[in-house]
Amino acid sequence: MTARLLDGRAVARAIREEVAADLADFRAAGGPLPRLAVVQVGEDPAAAAYTRSIVRSFEGAGLACTVERLPADGTASSVLETIRRLSDDPAVHGILVQSPLPGPLTLAEAAATMAAEKDVDGAHPLNVGLLALGRPAVAPCTPVGGLELLLRAEIPIAGRHAVVVGRGPTVGRPLALLLLGLDATVTVCHSRTPDLASFTREADILVAAAGRPGLIRAAMVKSGATVLDFGVNEVDGQLVGDVAFNEVGEVADAITPVPGGTGPVTNAVLLRQVVQVARRRTAG
Ligand code: NAP
Repeated sequence: MTARLLDGRAVARAIREEVAADLADFRAAGGPLPRLAVVQVGEDPAAAAYTRSIVRSFEGAGLACTVERLPADGTASSVLETIRRLSDDPAVHGILVQSPLPGPLTLAEAAATMAAEKDVDGAHPLNVGLLALGRPAVAPCTPVGGLELLLRAEIPIAGRHAVVVGRGPTVGRPLALLLLGLDATVTVCHSRTPDLASFTREADILVAAAGRPGLIRAAMVKSGATVLDFGVNEVDGQLVGDVAFNEVGEVADAITPVPGGTGPVTNAVLLRQVVQVARRRTAG
Protein backbone atom coordinates (compact mmCIF):
# COMPACT_ATOMS: atom_id res chain seq x y z
CA MET A 1 0.00 0.00 0.00
CA THR A 2 1.71 3.16 -1.20
CA ALA A 3 -1.08 5.72 -0.83
CA ARG A 4 -1.16 8.24 1.98
CA LEU A 5 -3.87 7.38 4.52
CA LEU A 6 -6.45 10.08 5.12
CA ASP A 7 -6.94 9.50 8.83
CA GLY A 8 -10.53 10.28 9.81
CA ARG A 9 -9.91 9.73 13.51
CA ALA A 10 -7.17 12.38 13.54
CA VAL A 11 -9.35 14.86 11.63
CA ALA A 12 -12.27 14.15 13.98
CA ARG A 13 -9.99 14.78 16.97
CA ALA A 14 -8.87 18.12 15.52
CA ILE A 15 -12.48 19.19 14.87
CA ARG A 16 -13.53 18.15 18.39
CA GLU A 17 -10.72 20.29 19.85
CA GLU A 18 -11.91 23.28 17.80
CA VAL A 19 -15.50 22.66 18.93
CA ALA A 20 -14.38 22.49 22.59
CA ALA A 21 -12.68 25.88 22.28
CA ASP A 22 -15.70 27.39 20.50
CA LEU A 23 -18.09 25.93 23.08
CA ALA A 24 -16.02 27.29 26.00
CA ASP A 25 -16.08 30.72 24.36
CA PHE A 26 -19.85 30.54 23.73
CA ARG A 27 -20.61 29.42 27.29
CA ALA A 28 -18.27 32.02 28.81
CA ALA A 29 -20.27 34.66 26.92
CA GLY A 30 -23.45 33.38 28.62
CA GLY A 31 -24.64 31.09 25.81
CA PRO A 32 -26.94 28.16 26.74
CA LEU A 33 -25.79 24.53 26.66
CA PRO A 34 -26.37 23.47 23.03
CA ARG A 35 -28.78 20.55 22.84
CA LEU A 36 -29.40 18.07 20.02
CA ALA A 37 -32.55 15.95 19.83
CA VAL A 38 -32.31 12.72 17.82
CA VAL A 39 -35.55 11.16 16.57
CA GLN A 40 -35.33 7.41 16.10
CA VAL A 41 -38.19 5.12 15.11
CA GLY A 42 -37.80 1.45 16.03
CA GLU A 43 -34.48 -0.32 16.56
CA ASP A 44 -32.98 -0.57 13.08
CA PRO A 45 -29.40 -1.76 13.86
CA ALA A 46 -27.63 0.89 11.73
CA ALA A 47 -29.79 3.72 13.10
CA ALA A 48 -29.40 2.47 16.68
CA ALA A 49 -25.60 2.24 16.26
CA TYR A 50 -25.46 5.77 14.84
CA THR A 51 -27.62 7.10 17.71
CA ARG A 52 -25.34 5.42 20.27
CA SER A 53 -22.25 6.92 18.67
CA ILE A 54 -23.89 10.39 18.63
CA VAL A 55 -24.81 10.13 22.32
CA ARG A 56 -21.24 9.04 23.17
CA SER A 57 -19.65 11.88 21.22
CA PHE A 58 -22.01 14.49 22.71
CA GLU A 59 -21.29 13.22 26.23
CA GLY A 60 -17.56 13.35 25.49
CA ALA A 61 -17.84 16.93 24.22
CA GLY A 62 -19.98 18.14 27.14
CA LEU A 63 -22.95 18.88 24.88
CA ALA A 64 -26.52 17.84 25.60
CA CYS A 65 -28.25 15.18 23.52
CA THR A 66 -31.67 13.64 24.04
CA VAL A 67 -33.07 10.73 22.07
CA GLU A 68 -36.76 10.62 21.19
CA ARG A 69 -37.50 6.94 20.63
CA LEU A 70 -40.71 6.00 18.91
CA PRO A 71 -41.87 2.37 18.74
CA ALA A 72 -41.21 0.43 15.53
CA ASP A 73 -44.97 0.56 14.81
CA GLY A 74 -45.05 4.35 15.38
CA THR A 75 -47.15 6.19 12.82
CA ALA A 76 -46.02 8.91 10.42
CA SER A 77 -48.23 11.39 12.25
CA SER A 78 -46.59 10.55 15.61
CA VAL A 79 -43.17 11.22 14.05
CA LEU A 80 -44.32 14.56 12.64
CA GLU A 81 -45.92 15.46 15.97
CA THR A 82 -42.62 14.72 17.78
CA ILE A 83 -40.67 16.87 15.32
CA ARG A 84 -43.15 19.76 15.75
CA ARG A 85 -42.87 19.52 19.52
CA LEU A 86 -39.05 19.60 19.35
CA SER A 87 -39.20 22.53 16.92
CA ASP A 88 -41.28 24.48 19.46
CA ASP A 89 -39.05 23.57 22.41
CA PRO A 90 -36.65 26.46 23.12
CA ALA A 91 -34.24 24.13 25.01
CA VAL A 92 -33.62 22.15 21.78
CA HIS A 93 -31.18 23.78 19.33
CA GLY A 94 -30.78 21.05 16.74
CA ILE A 95 -32.91 18.16 15.47
CA LEU A 96 -31.65 15.08 13.63
CA VAL A 97 -34.15 12.59 12.23
CA GLN A 98 -32.88 9.07 11.66
CA SER A 99 -34.12 6.79 8.91
CA PRO A 100 -35.85 4.42 8.50
CA LEU A 101 -39.17 6.15 9.05
CA PRO A 102 -42.64 4.61 8.93
CA GLY A 103 -43.57 4.39 5.24
CA PRO A 104 -44.66 6.32 3.26
CA LEU A 105 -43.03 9.16 5.28
CA THR A 106 -39.73 10.20 3.69
CA LEU A 107 -36.80 11.84 5.44
CA ALA A 108 -37.31 14.93 3.27
CA GLU A 109 -40.95 15.22 4.37
CA ALA A 110 -40.00 14.73 8.02
CA ALA A 111 -37.24 17.34 7.75
CA ALA A 112 -39.64 19.80 6.11
CA THR A 113 -41.71 19.69 9.31
CA MET A 114 -38.90 20.97 11.52
CA ALA A 115 -38.00 24.59 12.08
CA ALA A 116 -35.36 25.23 9.36
CA GLU A 117 -33.03 26.89 11.88
CA LYS A 118 -32.91 23.63 13.89
CA ASP A 119 -31.76 21.56 10.90
CA VAL A 120 -28.23 20.39 11.77
CA ASP A 121 -27.88 17.81 8.98
CA GLY A 122 -28.80 19.73 5.85
CA ALA A 123 -32.07 17.86 5.41
CA HIS A 124 -34.59 20.73 5.46
CA PRO A 125 -35.70 21.80 1.95
CA LEU A 126 -34.47 25.34 2.63
CA ASN A 127 -30.92 24.08 3.22
CA VAL A 128 -31.14 21.64 0.31
CA GLY A 129 -32.19 24.53 -1.94
CA LEU A 130 -29.54 26.94 -0.68
CA LEU A 131 -26.84 24.31 -1.24
CA ALA A 132 -28.14 23.68 -4.77
CA LEU A 133 -27.99 27.44 -5.42
CA GLY A 134 -24.39 27.60 -4.18
CA ARG A 135 -25.44 29.82 -1.26
CA PRO A 136 -24.31 29.38 2.37
CA ALA A 137 -26.27 26.47 3.82
CA VAL A 138 -26.16 23.88 6.58
CA ALA A 139 -25.04 20.85 4.55
CA PRO A 140 -25.30 17.20 5.62
CA CYS A 141 -22.58 16.25 8.11
CA THR A 142 -21.15 13.30 6.17
CA PRO A 143 -20.18 15.16 2.97
CA VAL A 144 -18.98 18.16 5.00
CA GLY A 145 -16.72 15.67 6.80
CA GLY A 146 -15.43 14.46 3.41
CA LEU A 147 -14.48 18.03 2.51
CA GLU A 148 -12.71 18.39 5.86
CA LEU A 149 -10.60 15.33 5.02
CA LEU A 150 -9.58 16.88 1.69
CA LEU A 151 -8.98 20.40 3.00
CA ARG A 152 -6.97 19.37 6.06
CA ALA A 153 -4.76 17.09 3.92
CA GLU A 154 -4.25 20.11 1.62
CA ILE A 155 -5.56 18.24 -1.40
CA PRO A 156 -6.32 20.80 -4.11
CA ILE A 157 -9.95 20.92 -5.24
CA ALA A 158 -10.36 23.95 -7.51
CA GLY A 159 -9.98 23.08 -11.17
CA ARG A 160 -9.68 19.35 -10.52
CA HIS A 161 -12.02 16.70 -11.79
CA ALA A 162 -14.11 15.11 -9.03
CA VAL A 163 -16.12 12.02 -9.92
CA VAL A 164 -18.81 11.16 -7.38
CA VAL A 165 -20.26 7.63 -7.55
CA GLY A 166 -23.71 7.80 -5.92
CA ARG A 167 -26.39 10.49 -6.00
CA GLY A 168 -28.10 9.79 -2.66
CA PRO A 169 -29.48 12.82 -0.81
CA THR A 170 -27.22 12.54 2.25
CA VAL A 171 -23.80 11.77 0.74
CA GLY A 172 -23.19 11.79 -3.02
CA ARG A 173 -25.53 14.55 -4.19
CA PRO A 174 -24.63 17.15 -1.52
CA LEU A 175 -20.92 16.34 -1.78
CA ALA A 176 -21.08 16.91 -5.55
CA LEU A 177 -22.60 20.36 -4.87
CA LEU A 178 -20.04 21.18 -2.17
CA LEU A 179 -17.18 20.24 -4.51
CA LEU A 180 -18.75 22.32 -7.28
CA GLY A 181 -18.90 25.22 -4.83
CA LEU A 182 -15.14 24.85 -4.35
CA ASP A 183 -14.63 25.04 -8.13
CA ALA A 184 -14.04 21.37 -8.90
CA THR A 185 -15.33 20.08 -12.21
CA VAL A 186 -17.84 17.49 -11.06
CA THR A 187 -19.20 14.34 -12.68
CA VAL A 188 -21.92 12.39 -10.86
CA CYS A 189 -22.36 8.68 -11.60
CA HIS A 190 -25.12 6.33 -10.42
CA SER A 191 -26.56 2.89 -10.97
CA ARG A 192 -27.68 3.73 -14.53
CA THR A 193 -24.26 5.04 -15.59
CA PRO A 194 -22.92 2.75 -18.33
CA ASP A 195 -19.20 1.89 -18.23
CA LEU A 196 -18.58 3.38 -14.79
CA ALA A 197 -14.83 2.82 -15.09
CA SER A 198 -14.58 5.17 -18.08
CA PHE A 199 -15.67 7.98 -15.74
CA THR A 200 -13.84 6.97 -12.55
CA ARG A 201 -10.53 6.63 -14.44
CA GLU A 202 -10.75 10.36 -15.23
CA ALA A 203 -11.05 11.40 -11.58
CA ASP A 204 -8.45 13.42 -9.71
CA ILE A 205 -10.77 13.09 -6.71
CA LEU A 206 -12.85 9.92 -6.68
CA VAL A 207 -15.75 9.67 -4.25
CA ALA A 208 -17.45 6.33 -3.60
CA ALA A 209 -20.89 6.69 -1.98
CA ALA A 210 -22.86 3.78 -3.42
CA GLY A 211 -23.08 1.25 -0.59
CA ARG A 212 -21.68 -1.51 -2.86
CA PRO A 213 -18.69 -3.36 -1.38
CA GLY A 214 -15.69 -3.61 -3.70
CA LEU A 215 -17.34 -1.52 -6.44
CA ILE A 216 -14.18 0.51 -7.08
CA ARG A 217 -11.25 -1.65 -8.24
CA ALA A 218 -7.66 -0.58 -8.93
CA ALA A 219 -8.17 -0.63 -12.71
CA MET A 220 -10.90 2.01 -12.30
CA VAL A 221 -8.62 4.53 -10.58
CA LYS A 222 -6.19 6.98 -12.16
CA SER A 223 -2.65 6.86 -10.80
CA GLY A 224 -2.20 9.64 -8.23
CA ALA A 225 -5.92 10.13 -7.52
CA THR A 226 -7.38 10.93 -4.11
CA VAL A 227 -10.06 8.42 -3.10
CA LEU A 228 -12.77 9.10 -0.51
CA ASP A 229 -14.73 6.01 0.50
CA PHE A 230 -18.07 6.60 2.23
CA GLY A 231 -19.33 3.04 1.86
CA VAL A 232 -20.42 1.26 5.03
CA ASN A 233 -21.00 -2.41 4.24
CA GLU A 234 -20.85 -5.55 6.31
CA VAL A 235 -19.21 -8.47 4.55
CA ASP A 236 -18.56 -11.70 6.48
CA GLY A 237 -18.88 -9.82 9.75
CA GLN A 238 -16.33 -7.18 8.65
CA LEU A 239 -16.98 -3.50 7.99
CA VAL A 240 -15.80 -2.62 4.48
CA GLY A 241 -16.20 0.34 2.16
CA ASP A 242 -17.08 0.59 -1.53
CA VAL A 243 -13.41 0.62 -2.54
CA ALA A 244 -11.16 -2.43 -2.82
CA PHE A 245 -8.82 -0.80 -0.33
CA ASN A 246 -5.63 -2.89 -0.65
CA GLU A 247 -5.40 -2.79 -4.44
CA VAL A 248 -6.61 0.81 -4.87
CA GLY A 249 -4.07 1.82 -2.19
CA GLU A 250 -1.35 0.81 -4.68
CA VAL A 251 -2.61 3.20 -7.37
CA ALA A 252 -4.05 6.18 -5.48
CA ASP A 253 -2.03 8.98 -3.95
CA ALA A 254 -4.32 9.30 -0.91
CA ILE A 255 -7.18 7.15 0.36
CA THR A 256 -9.59 6.92 3.30
CA PRO A 257 -9.68 3.58 5.15
CA VAL A 258 -12.91 1.90 6.27
CA PRO A 259 -13.32 1.97 9.19
CA GLY A 260 -11.47 5.07 10.40
CA GLY A 261 -11.92 7.31 7.37
CA THR A 262 -15.06 9.27 6.55
CA GLY A 263 -17.14 7.72 9.38
CA PRO A 264 -15.56 9.33 12.47
CA VAL A 265 -15.54 12.80 10.89
CA THR A 266 -19.35 12.79 10.49
CA ASN A 267 -19.89 12.83 14.28
CA ALA A 268 -17.36 15.59 14.87
CA VAL A 269 -19.01 17.75 12.19
CA LEU A 270 -22.40 17.14 13.84
CA LEU A 271 -21.02 18.52 17.14
CA ARG A 272 -19.78 21.59 15.30
CA GLN A 273 -23.07 22.14 13.47
CA VAL A 274 -25.06 21.92 16.73
CA VAL A 275 -22.85 24.55 18.38
CA GLN A 276 -23.18 26.72 15.26
CA VAL A 277 -27.00 26.62 15.26
CA ALA A 278 -27.06 27.40 19.00
CA ARG A 279 -24.75 30.36 18.36
CA ARG A 280 -26.90 31.62 15.48
CA ARG A 281 -30.08 31.40 17.56
CA THR A 282 -28.50 33.21 20.49
CA ALA A 283 -27.14 35.91 18.17
CA GLY A 284 -30.49 36.26 16.39
P1 NAP B 1 -28.33 5.82 -1.24
O1 NAP B 1 -29.14 7.02 -0.95
O2 NAP B 1 -28.98 4.49 -1.36
O3 NAP B 1 -27.51 6.11 -2.58
C1 NAP B 1 -26.71 5.16 -3.18
C2 NAP B 1 -26.30 5.67 -4.53
O4 NAP B 1 -25.40 4.75 -5.11
C3 NAP B 1 -27.48 5.82 -5.49
O5 NAP B 1 -27.38 7.05 -6.17
C4 NAP B 1 -27.31 4.64 -6.46
O6 NAP B 1 -27.73 4.94 -7.78
C5 NAP B 1 -25.79 4.50 -6.46
N1 NAP B 1 -25.36 3.15 -6.84
C6 NAP B 1 -25.80 1.98 -6.32
N2 NAP B 1 -25.19 0.95 -6.95
C7 NAP B 1 -24.36 1.50 -7.87
C8 NAP B 1 -23.47 0.95 -8.82
N3 NAP B 1 -23.31 -0.37 -8.96
N4 NAP B 1 -22.78 1.80 -9.62
C9 NAP B 1 -22.93 3.14 -9.49
N5 NAP B 1 -23.76 3.72 -8.58
C10 NAP B 1 -24.46 2.90 -7.79
O7 NAP B 1 -27.19 5.62 -0.14
P2 NAP B 1 -26.47 6.75 0.77
O8 NAP B 1 -27.32 7.05 1.94
O9 NAP B 1 -26.00 7.86 -0.11
O10 NAP B 1 -25.25 5.92 1.31
C11 NAP B 1 -24.21 5.49 0.46
C12 NAP B 1 -23.20 4.73 1.31
O11 NAP B 1 -22.66 5.64 2.27
C13 NAP B 1 -23.80 3.58 2.14
O12 NAP B 1 -22.86 2.53 2.24
C14 NAP B 1 -24.04 4.21 3.50
O13 NAP B 1 -24.06 3.24 4.55
C15 NAP B 1 -22.83 5.10 3.58
N6 NAP B 1 -22.93 6.23 4.52
C16 NAP B 1 -21.78 6.56 5.17
C17 NAP B 1 -21.76 7.61 6.06
C18 NAP B 1 -20.47 7.96 6.74
O14 NAP B 1 -20.48 8.71 7.72
N7 NAP B 1 -19.32 7.48 6.23
C19 NAP B 1 -22.93 8.33 6.30
C20 NAP B 1 -24.09 8.02 5.59
C21 NAP B 1 -24.07 6.97 4.70
P3 NAP B 1 -29.29 5.26 -8.13
O15 NAP B 1 -29.51 6.67 -7.65
O16 NAP B 1 -29.33 5.13 -9.59
O17 NAP B 1 -30.09 4.26 -7.37
